Amino acid sequence: MAAGSQSLGVGELEACLNCGRDVGSKARECPHCGENLRELKAELKEDARRERIRQEKEEERHAKQLLASTVVDDDEGGGVMGYLIFFMIFVVGKVILYYTTGSFIIPRR
Ligand SMILES: [Zn+2]
Repeated sequence: MAAGSQSLGVGELEACLNCGRDVGSKARECPHCGENLRELKAELKEDARRERIRQEKEEERHAKQLLASTVVDDDEGGGVMGYLIFFMIFVVGKVILYYTTGSFIIPRR
């Protein structure tokens, strides 16, 4: 082992975030590539935190959109509903038409 790998044994071994080789989890920097692991981890945590906040906001936005789309006609959900309503009106209309005109689908007594 080289003199610089002193920090390698500290903590549990995990892959370096930069070069992928084994490094002690408490090592300040990677003995292989010299990357400052604490900074890298802090950056990754910060990124993950920002990403999570962004996703939460996105989900919130989606939920609001979904809520709005159940009332107002929207592309997907509203489209299917509109189609169903149209179909129901069509069927009911047909039935009423056949009833009132004396009709084909209802057998005559
Ligand atoms: Zn490394």
